[in-house]
Amino acid sequence: MTSIESFRIAVLSLAAIGIVVSSTTSKAQEKTAKRCVVVWSEGTAPTNIYPHDINAAIAEGLKTSLKDWEVVTAGIDSPDHGIPDALLNRADVLIWWGHKKHGAVKDDLVAKIEKRVKEDGMGFISLHSSHFAKPNKKLMGTACSWGAYVGDSTTLKITVKDADHPIAKGIPKEFSMTHNERYSDPYAVPEAKSIVFEGVADLKNGKKDESKQGFCWDVGKGKMFYFQPGHETNPIFFDENVRKIIANAVLWAAPEKK
Ligand code: ZN
Repeated sequence: MTSIESFRIAVLSLAAIGIVVSSTTSKAQEKTAKRCVVVWSEGTAPTNIYPHDINAAIAEGLKTSLKDWEVVTAGIDSPDHGIPDALLNRADVLIWWGHKKHGAVKDDLVAKIEKRVKEDGMGFISLHSSHFAKPNKKLMGTACSWGAYVGDSTTLKITVKDADHPIAKGIPKEFSMTHNERYSDPYAVPEAKSIVFEGVADLKNGKKDESKQGFCWDVGKGKMFYFQPGHETNPIFFDENVRKIIANAVLWAAPEKK
């Protein structure tokens, strides 16, 4: 073998090793890539209740229970509403809280969210007044209106209706919170696959109002959860049970890892 031939064999061998090493590395990176949840809100919550808005309060709860997840906050005032394509495309779950700025959300982002849920299986979690948010209505395909919205309640008692559902895992059979706004049945949405939570609001006039609180659907390839509580003047996203429900919902809604 000439020295040139041995040199060529050596170079080819090194190249082959390089190919093996690089493909092993990319597979390892895929396996170890963190799962990602994006928490979005519009920045309209009162700062005496939510100093860093609702997305930060929810993210704080998620970071304590989903330690191996990447938890990202996003808001309406950032470019692309804080959800550029690169983030949306790697998000396993998107959580949405909106109220006063539904109309300001850009339609092209809504279309991208719909596609990610229906075609790619991204999970979507919609909270309280987001029943009228554009992505919520787009995914449901219905009016998404409630029978009534009244600020006449004092407390809300949540009861577990579907105890075997993963979102109810570790949640007490019933728990109460201060909640000064009730939405009344019916909620104009497609039939839910499961109603995980129901509730009873105590009203200022001494009466009670029962309504559904936690709904699950399959939407295309994706899973969707709607949770009724979450009025911005009530600090419920600091409540341990609510935080557990949202963390459970993230795990439930995330697509299976390929
Ligand atoms: Zn509200």
